Amino acid sequence: MSEDVGVSEEAVIVIVEDDPNIADLVELYLRRDGYRPYQASTGEQALEIVALRRPKLILLDIGLPGELDGLDVCRSIRAESDVPIILLTARDDEVDRVLGLELGADDYVTKPFSPRELVARVKAILRRADASATRAGNQRPAPIELGAEIIVDSARREVTVGGAAVALAAREFDLLLHLSRNRGLALSRRQLLDGVWGDGWIGDDRTVDVHVRQLRKKLGDGLVLETVWGVGYRLD
Ligand code: CA
Repeated sequence: MSEDVGVSEEAVIVIVEDDPNIADLVELYLRRDGYRPYQASTGEQALEIVALRRPKLILLDIGLPGELDGLDVCRSIRAESDVPIILLTARDDEVDRVLGLELGADDYVTKPFSPRELVARVKAILRRADASATRAGNQRPAPIELGAEIIVDSARREVTVGGAAVALAAREFDLLLHLSRNRGLALSRRQLLDGVWGDGWIGDDRTVDVHVRQLRKKLGDGLVLETVWGVGYRLD
């Protein structure tokens, strides 16, 4: 596919939703605002279309028929790309699952949602991404600002505190990035191990503590990385 998306008003958005009524309605609203939506109704189809169309943003239903549900799709996309993802959740217990997991989604809405509200969120997220990303697109994710001083630039794998680069070990950087993408969420040590060290990693949960200690030491007071007793850690 050699498609050039010249202006952000024509940004490609992939809608992953198995309910055709919802998908069509969302598509209608997105089209009306000048976006170029594509639909996928299964997780497998979603991964294909995302690979083909390189969307600027993905709307992702959690409850999907077939082998892959929305959470699987989210994880799979996140492993390769920082493209913004908004999860569409059907029930409160799904919201709980979303919040409890480390998925790296940018936002979520609960059904039934207003298409107008959804488009407003799409716009806000794309504006945020556009403002700081270069034109290189999805491969060049926007640096994340933590507080007033700390900037995490995943593309350059660089962290600066007050403009000065801080040397982090690879795992320390990965851990910081992972926490940054899940700001405000309390993540267990197990979730951090799975997310940073990988699912198959068998090791002592205290590994996380050691790395957290290093991050606190190297990044100083500007890093608001709280210990959540009985759970793990939360970056604010
Ligand atoms: Ca569904």
